[in-house]
Amino acid sequence: MQIYRLKINKNICIGCNDCVVSCPINFQQLKEKGYLTQENAVVLVKNGMAYDIYIEEREVNCDGCGVCLRYCPVSAIELQLIEKK
Ligand code: SF4
Ligand code: SF4
Repeated sequence: MQIYRLKINKNICIGCNDCVVSCPINFQQLKEKGYLTQENAVVLVKNGMAYDIYIEEREVNCDGCGVCLRYCPVSAIELQLIEKK
């Protein structure tokens, strides 16, 4: 299994939230649970800055689909493959 993390350039992120709402995993979690928090989301915005959330023991983490990269208006996101099992 490949594990991905987002690398977000904090110098250029404008906190627009587009990555949060475009992410299919976030969307699925929102549909299932009715809310997005640090417990179930894979990317959120706080204090005007996006940050990725990776929780090892959790079933759902970023799958590297790249959708958020395409939606980010300032190209602040890079994908990093952190582990290949
Ligand atoms: S790469 Fe895909 S799964 Fe990962 S945060 Fe972006 S949209 Fe969500
Ligand atoms: S889409 Fe890009 S600019 Fe907008 S919050 Fe996400 S990383 Fe920041």
